[in-house]
Amino acid sequence: MYDRYNRKINYLRVSITDRCNLRCTYCMPAEGVKLLDHKDILSFEEIVEVIREAVTLGVTKVRITGGEPLVRKGVVSLVEKIAAIKEITDFGLTTNGIFLSTFAADLAKAGLHRINVSLDTVDAEKYRAITRGGDIQKVFEGIDAAQKAGLTPVKINCVVRHSSDEPDAQAVKEYCRLNGLEARFIHEMSLADGCFTIVENGHGGDCVNCNRLRLTASGMIRPCLFNDIQFSTRELGIREALEQAVGKKPEKGSVNVTGGFHNIGG
Ligand code: SF4
Repeated sequence: MYDRYNRKINYLRVSITDRCNLRCTYCMPAEGVKLLDHKDILSFEEIVEVIREAVTLGVTKVRITGGEPLVRKGVVSLVEKIAAIKEITDFGLTTNGIFLSTFAADLAKAGLHRINVSLDTVDAEKYRAITRGGDIQKVFEGIDAAQKAGLTPVKINCVVRHSSDEPDAQAVKEYCRLNGLEARFIHEMSLADGCFTIVENGHGGDCVNCNRLRLTASGMIRPCLFNDIQFSTRELGIREALEQAVGKKPEKGSVNVTGGFHNIGG
């Protein structure tokens, strides 16, 4: 499917939960956020139904996000159901890596293709401060498990303040070079201020070539991260919500004052 700006829309990012085991300073306030009621979160059956419909409209790339997707109970069985959809040629998941060493082998067996892991520093104390309590050792073990399970290429999402020349980013780059990982640098964004740039060594933020839609954990199709428009799959029906989202996809991002990274999945 193509939008009004002749962009081919073939990528669906799927947030399966707004919950997370970490409290990264640039994503969530320390006290956390008001979470969705369980009844407002799509079931696995509903998520798979949306993806099946999206595939009939030309989606071939799917990425699972959150919150933190590995905190959602039964995530491996969901991956299995999605991997069974043959039209999906690129199937990934983005995680903070804390539980990855537990899940990597099962995710690979279930049919996941590859993994992105969030890591903004290789310094244990800085990591604990940025994530408000995370244990970086678990992340290193998770990355290692993902590589051993064949969920490759393993890509590292590193959030930077202003540039990948910052010391922490340089250390992450070196860590990636030494371990056969691909580093991508995401400049800190502000949804409410409409502040974003193109991901270094990635495609996010490249509005001219944007190919993505997002499904939120509450079943909203969002055509753009930096915009408030969204279409309910439960109210409108899945196909109508997808088609309206593509039809009204903005030319470029502006501001988003209704959503957060934790419930849209970045
Ligand atoms: S801001 Fe919107 S249009 Fe631009 S790349 Fe992001 S999702 Fe696409």
